[in-house]
Order: sequence, then C-alpha cells, then structure tokens
Amino acid sequence: MTPEPILIALTALLGAMLGSFLNVCIIRLPGGKSIVSPRSSCPHCGHVVRPWDNIPVLSWLILRGRCRDCGSRISAQYPLVELASAGLAVASLLHAGIGWQWPVQFLLLYLLLGILATDVREYIIPDAFSLGGLLAGLAAGFLPGGLEPSEALIGALVGGGTLYGVALAGRFVLRKEAMGGGDVKLLAMIGAFCGWQGVLFTVFAGSLAGSVIFGFVNFVLKKDRLVPFGLFLALGAALYVFAGKPLIGWYLSLFTI
Ligand SMILES: [Zn+2]
Repeated sequence: MTPEPILIALTALLGAMLGSFLNVCIIRLPGGKSIVSPRSSCPHCGHVVRPWDNIPVLSWLILRGRCRDCGSRISAQYPLVELASAGLAVASLLHAGIGWQWPVQFLLLYLLLGILATDVREYIIPDAFSLGGLLAGLAAGFLPGGLEPSEALIGALVGGGTLYGVALAGRFVLRKEAMGGGDVKLLAMIGAFCGWQGVLFTVFAGSLAGSVIFGFVNFVLKKDRLVPFGLFLALGAALYVFAGKPLIGWYLSLFTI
C-alpha cells in the first residue's frame, strides 16, 4: 500500500529538519565540540544565524549560498545533507512501509549519511555515530519485523571481527595502517542493523567500489590519496538496505546452472 501523499510530504519535511541537525553534528562532532550549544553562527563573521535563515534547503537557496551579514560563501554541504536526509526518510518509508522498521531503517541511513560526510571531510568517523549506532542497532533487534536480537548481536560481532582481522593483516602485510579503528566500529554498527549477511555484502561491495573508484581517481590525478573507506562502507550498507537480498540472490544464481 502506498502511503498518503500528505504523509510523504511531512516525512520529507521532518527528514530535512533532522538533516539540518545532522549538519551541526558533522561539523562539530569530529572536533569533540558540543552539538547543543552555542547556536549556529557564520564561520567568517561570527553572526548568529537567524531562525528564518535556518530553514532547511530553502534558506540556502534564497540567500544564494551566502551569509546574510558578510556575504561569504556557505558550503553546499548544508542543503545537500538536508536534501539527502529528506530523501532517505521518504525512501525508508516507501521501502519499509508504516511500522517499526521504518524508523529503524531511517536511523541507519541517517547515521551512514553523517559518517559518509565526516569521513570525506576529515577521515574521521565519530564514535557518537558508530558506537551510538551500534547500541541503537542492538536495541532495534528487540523491535518487531526486523532482525532477532541474537542476529543483531552476531552481525555486530562478525562486523567488528571481520574488519579487525583485516586491519591486523594489513598492518602485518603492508606494514602500515590499512584500516582505521573507526571503520571497525562502523562495520560493527552495520552488522547490528543488517546481520552478518549485510556485513559480508557491505565489505564486498564497499571494497570493490572503493578500490576501483579510488584507484581510478588516483590514477587520473596521479596522486596517492587515502581511500575514505568509511564512505564506501556507508554506500555499500545503504545499497544492502534497499537491494541487498535481490542482489545476493542474483549473484548466487550465477554459480548455479
Ligand atoms: Zn558571515
């Protein structure tokens, strides 16, 4: 059953507002700053952002991406994260339907969006996202319609354990940090929400996309930039949420005649 248009519109609005809060978290969490105070201000002139200039997406468009006081550029990250959050809220509603799994799926996608942004910006995955998400994912196992609590726990252990093993092997073979501790916690969180199948899918899809895309980017730019692995794990997990089961079925069908 398709939800009412009014519900979809309200969901998008709520998603955009939560995206606005996510922007604050993305900017402040990596530096260990408070996400509740002080109020948002322009990083250039220090003027506090007026409430009516803080409407998701619209304010940025009306101000044409510039501060009302000093005219310096405001990052496109703000409207992009708000739009993405609104889109994910609607997508999880359409995918999960009305019920407990809707907020569960949205929470996972929301955290993945935050992680994707901090990893791209600063190669940091804040514990508030990953460990907070891990606890939320384990708790979500007690809600109806999704994973069992035991499946969430096994997923978290497989997720944390797999990458911890990869990180140890990388240190041993490559003699350098192949994987950060943030990635280990991220995959434990993904496991708590998606189970062990989701972990394997995410690692497979994420490392494939990460090495192909970043190998290509570094080849073209003739650089040796560090792969923001968290970005690709986040994208892999999001793909699993929406299309994991059919994709796994299709992949396995290649090996059966
Ligand atoms: Zn300003």
